[in-house]
Amino acid sequence: LSNFMNLQFAAKSENESFARVAVASFISQLDPTMDELSDLKTVVSEAVTNSIIHGYNNDSAGIVTIKAEIVGDMITLVIEDQGQGIEDLELAKQPLYTSKPELERSGMGFTIMENFMDECEVVSEPGRGTSIMMKK
Ligand code: ATP
Ligand code: MG
Repeated sequence: LSNFMNLQFAAKSENESFARVAVASFISQLDPTMDELSDLKTVVSEAVTNSIIHGYNNDSAGIVTIKAEIVGDMITLVIEDQGQGIEDLELAKQPLYTSKPELERSGMGFTIMENFMDECEVVSEPGRGTSIMMKK
């Protein structure tokens, strides 16, 4: 099995559930279990939310891109924004670290992505944006 899809949408919180469902629907051809599907939806939701609220500071002019690729029974997800980027990636990845405590974020997004997926690589440049590649 070999397949891919690319998706772009405005950085609006309304699009978060759309992104989650779109990826789940694309992945359904692999016949995932409910648990696998639920994990994938969670990581998509975490990464997309980060792009919207951190990358673009909720400016809906921003564009979020999702690429999903299936090779055999492996799935690769890339979630990208051209937002503000991350200054200190090591710090950002620490469990419970959040730059927006006033929004009652728990600082667990990266930890969840790393735990739910087999691979999770973040590339980010201040002023240019952030790209997260995850495999399962
Ligand atoms: P939670 O995900 O639990 O609601 P959070 O979003 O603050 O809280 P993480 O998802 O782990 O926690 O992200 C940690 C920090 O990394 C964020 O607070 C933010 O400073 C930074 N960050 C994450 N994703 C991005 C992004 N796409 N663009 C810019 N900064 C980001
Ligand atoms: Mg987050």
